[in-house]
Amino acid sequence: MFQRANVAGFLQGLFVLPLCALFGGLIALLFHAHGFGLWACVGFCALFPIFGALKTKQKSLLAGLLAGVIVSAVLLIALVPAHAQENPLPLSGFVVCLDPGHVSETSAGTVSRNGRLTEAHVNWVVAQRLTRLLQAEGATVVPTKLRESQVVANRRRAEIANAAHANLFLRLHCDSGEQSGIATYYPDRQGRRFGVTGPSTEVMQASRRAAQHFHPALCAALQGALKDDGIKGDSQTGVGGKQGALTGSIFSRVPALTIEMCVLTNSHDYRFINTAVGEDRMAHALLAGVEAAALQEKDVR
Ligand SMILES: [Zn+2]
Repeated sequence: MFQRANVAGFLQGLFVLPLCALFGGLIALLFHAHGFGLWACVGFCALFPIFGALKTKQKSLLAGLLAGVIVSAVLLIALVPAHAQENPLPLSGFVVCLDPGHVSETSAGTVSRNGRLTEAHVNWVVAQRLTRLLQAEGATVVPTKLRESQVVANRRRAEIANAAHANLFLRLHCDSGEQSGIATYYPDRQGRRFGVTGPSTEVMQASRRAAQHFHPALCAALQGALKDDGIKGDSQTGVGGKQGALTGSIFSRVPALTIEMCVLTNSHDYRFINTAVGEDRMAHALLAGVEAAALQEKDVR
């Protein structure tokens, strides 16, 4: 019964199955297979020793395989829950269409009072920093422009967000004027541009909900570094006042927020945003806003 050949057969059966299953797991890893794909790879590789043992009809080998199945099952029970407990990244599956404002068909954007800092540059630099932060949190970022100097029409920007089926169309701008602070705009009524009326009621409602979660998180993260100018409707902007909504919002089929990150012509705001530290704080605050918007969107779904 305990002949050397039997023991060898048993051990062969015991180890070969977990090893083949592990091999299948490694193949799945190589091809980034998850879920069904992973289990199909593991199962397929585990079939070989089972068929081999059945063919030989060696009792010791079959007993070893049976023990191997039990060992594999115990290992799986021990390992799989540990893997399942690993939290996915907070923004995995969330698509942000990130739109650094200007240059568009209508405007090159505002400039600081001393003429040294353009809005288009601030929007671009903050967007680059924010892209890295969002991606590190697992978000998919779809940019509306690929170079700082690229001219992209506002309608086209919305079309990029629509094509990406973005969960959020986030538009970064800086304001001009006598006031100061940071404000979040959403389409609060339909507008009309190029013979098209939009956005839909659903998009307006989703945009408002996003703003209500985005803006408080944004301001909390800034810790008073900029004045809180609150949540406003597109209709309160110059263009929105004429059209009903911003052009990018009219053509958007996804929730759209326009952030006036600061007032570039205000000396306090200018000093804040004209430093790497300020840009970085702004990017982190925007990330907090996206996280809050993503969280409420998950609740709605
Ligand atoms: Zn702007």
